[in-house]
Amino acid sequence: MSNVFSDLDPAIRAIFADERQPHGAIAPPIATSSTFAFATHADLAARYRGETSAPIYSRTENPTVRLLEEKLALLEGGEDAIALGSGMAAITSAVLALVRSGDRIVAIRNSYSDAHRFFDLMLPRLGVQTSYVDANDPLALQAAIRGARLFYFESPSSYVFDCVDIEYLARIARIAGAITLFDNSFASPMRQNPLLHGIDLVVHSMSKYLSGHSDVVAGCVVGSHALIGAIRTGVSPFLGSKLSAFEAWLVLRGLRTLPIRIEAHERSAAVVAAALAELPQVTRVLRPGVSAPLPHTLRGAGGLMTVEFDETVDIPTFCDALQVFRLAVSWGGFESLALPADIVVRPPEPYSRHQPQGITKRMVRLFIGLEGAEVLRADLLNAITTATKDG
Ligand SMILES: *Cc1c(COP(=O)(O)O)cnc(C)c1O
Repeated sequence: MSNVFSDLDPAIRAIFADERQPHGAIAPPIATSSTFAFATHADLAARYRGETSAPIYSRTENPTVRLLEEKLALLEGGEDAIALGSGMAAITSAVLALVRSGDRIVAIRNSYSDAHRFFDLMLPRLGVQTSYVDANDPLALQAAIRGARLFYFESPSSYVFDCVDIEYLARIARIAGAITLFDNSFASPMRQNPLLHGIDLVVHSMSKYLSGHSDVVAGCVVGSHALIGAIRTGVSPFLGSKLSAFEAWLVLRGLRTLPIRIEAHERSAAVVAAALAELPQVTRVLRPGVSAPLPHTLRGAGGLMTVEFDETVDIPTFCDALQVFRLAVSWGGFESLALPADIVVRPPEPYSRHQPQGITKRMVRLFIGLEGAEVLRADLLNAITTATKDG
């Protein structure tokens, strides 16, 4: 008899992995216990000596969280993964595990806003400085990376969805001896697997596609045993930024539909993007694959886009006329969401050099949910018509 599992898509294989539960249960149990008992003194002593791996206390390990971590490692092609209480906990834990006072890190200018604020606001207190580069300027990276400990980047990038050749940038960092930390939230493991292209550590905000229902805030880091071990033993027990068993279970549930959700978001997004591009009021639609072909590491454009309107469209009126799209930050769930950039583009913050790049007040970011392309297109066209000033 041949093993049909070996022919499955890697993502589906990860979803099936370790799903044999007691009593033949189809859904994994939620281990809500804070602490875990040992049968004998000898068992407890062996665990403390590190000779066994049974869970001790849920701040550092929990069976439901561990099941999720094993699947995340498989999904990204990593040796190990750690799941944490938010995407920001994943980013800060990974950085703090790697840097020492006196180190310098390099980050792309268009990084996720709170990661940028962490680099500017908190790292200098620990004696760690950050240099910023444009992701599509490899020469600037080559100059800045010399002597740096870490290179942090993302692609597609926040808001404008610029894409870079991550394999090329990973090679530049590797030659300089810097560790690469890559935020893969926008592509999801279904569309990009950076560890297979030379990246050392991948982070995800699992609040987005991985959980997929706008009901979880969670994050993870995936990479080698050594690097994940450094986070697991050197940082996360002390920061205490653990993921709850229930939220881990919600992400496990979300993963089961991840492949078909991504396909559906992408299919509807293509229809909506094409409809918007035809309108006279629309000056640009920013989406991976529009201004340049998708890089060879990225297998799809996802469900996000940013639309730029000309001066005839009143943006607050457009936002208020939407009936299906909701006005909200975040993305990756069932619901279509709109986020106007005039809210995001602000005067420089006193405590951070963060300034969104390439974003104008005429832009609105759209997340295309699962309501179906036709109703979403109708909602947008109706709101644009309502918001367009005559003449
Ligand atoms: C949302 C997001 C984060 C932060 O994740 P949280 O789960 O909200 O802490 C980091 N990176 C990207 C690209 C995101 O979209």
